[in-house]
Amino acid sequence: MKLEVIENIVKQVVKDLQQEGITMEASTYEYGVFDTMEAAISASEIAQKELMSYSLQERNSFVDAIRETILQKDHLDMISLMAVEETGIGRYSDKLIKNRVAAVKTPGKEVLETRAMTGHDGLTIEEFCPFGVIGAITPTTNPTETIINNSISMIVGGNTVVFSPHPRAKKVSTILVQMINKALEAAGAPNNLVTMVREPSIENTQIMMEHPKVRLLVATGGPGIVKQVLSSGKKAIGAGAGNPPVVVDETAHIEQAAKDIINGASFDNNVPCIAEKEVFVVEEVADQLVYHMKKNGAYEITDMSTLDTLVKKVTKDDGKPNPDFVGKSAKDLLALVGIVVDDSIHLIIARTSEHHHLVTEEMMMPILPIVSVPNVDIAIECAYRAELGNRHTAMMHSQNLEKLSKMARLLETTIFVKNAPSYAGIGVGGEGHTTFTIAGPTGEGITCARSFCRIRRCVLSEAFSLR
Ligand code: NAD
Repeated sequence: MKLEVIENIVKQVVKDLQQEGITMEASTYEYGVFDTMEAAISASEIAQKELMSYSLQERNSFVDAIRETILQKDHLDMISLMAVEETGIGRYSDKLIKNRVAAVKTPGKEVLETRAMTGHDGLTIEEFCPFGVIGAITPTTNPTETIINNSISMIVGGNTVVFSPHPRAKKVSTILVQMINKALEAAGAPNNLVTMVREPSIENTQIMMEHPKVRLLVATGGPGIVKQVLSSGKKAIGAGAGNPPVVVDETAHIEQAAKDIINGASFDNNVPCIAEKEVFVVEEVADQLVYHMKKNGAYEITDMSTLDTLVKKVTKDDGKPNPDFVGKSAKDLLALVGIVVDDSIHLIIARTSEHHHLVTEEMMMPILPIVSVPNVDIAIECAYRAELGNRHTAMMHSQNLEKLSKMARLLETTIFVKNAPSYAGIGVGGEGHTTFTIAGPTGEGITCARSFCRIRRCVLSEAFSLR
């Protein structure tokens, strides 16, 4: 779709929302957006108590209202476009896919199964029950997807949620929180099931993390914020950084592997934490892999000094990615070194050593290093080292079950995708539900409503065993 057409849609939707009463101008609160963190948390606490008077079925209908409002075409267009415009990260067409999948494939009440134990001593049940008010910290790279996904999972679990978005995603997060509350109100839900503070900041996040009314913290972001929530003294779920390697061996279907790697590594300009970040390919098929990658949308930088210049430009002095270039397109990045390409190029590739900066650092840019190695066993060992112990995500293209199994066992990643793009691991072209909070460090994995619940036991002694 042309940019002007999208801009006109956005302007119209913003106007419509303002007419409906959704605006960022007023000063007290509107649809879940508060002036202070204290007010956002207090409102959330009241809302959670109210929510407990509704049945699980009703909670499920509330989260269905969230799905419906997000899937409304003008809403989906707007939040996808605003996310790219405000953060400067990613691709509009891929944000559409990610927001849609968050709305459609985040599970509802079906994952909250009660467990029953019966016998001579009676009946015992164990149920997934809410924590209460959850404080959720969301990343710049998936600002809207994470809010949609977390809201559905947390509310159907009986919780309310106070979001602390990245300040660089303030506007789109505000619009989205208001949109969700508006839809919830129309569905008959209590007000303020989802709240946030008007001016997100590190200070406000600190207040949230320390607040006694917040019973569970959920951080989706880099290692710094995950460490902070884990040091908070509260129950915390950490969804941290990855640096996903891909192994390609000589038994793989090379052309398909090339296409899959391009699709995964260029998805949303490489910002997803699960996206392919480095490739280890067995020497004998390396040329073939690069050939097919170039035929399918990759541009190869062969001159090492050009690569060095590019890497220097997009890297800060401390070696971390320069945020100005995170999630930029391959075309824009190539322009930094004077290379002009058309929109058919989605990914930059370059042959490097195992120790290259692009291999060892999570850059979140569509520049993919390709490392040739003598055999598949060495490729798997390199992948293990490059993954940096995150145990997050890895991919392998191979028909050799023994080696696939070897890699899965050695890397111990939360997600291991075989013969497909990385995003198959979050339900895009792969079986299973989606999440945008992949909790590797704390072990909840592909989070869903269950992850944000406490298990409580209820016992009836000496009755109700029917066998
Ligand atoms: P980030 O760590 O810079 O920020 C994440 C969130 O934490 C933001 O809301 C930010 O404002 C907040 N934050 C960071 N430091 C803070 C501090 N000292 N005090 C209070 N709040 C603080 O990460 P980002 O650039 O927004 O996102 C990219 C990172 O997130 C990557 O490392 C990526 O791998 C990771 N990520 C992980 C997952 C997952 O599910 N595991 C999903 C998306 C992104």
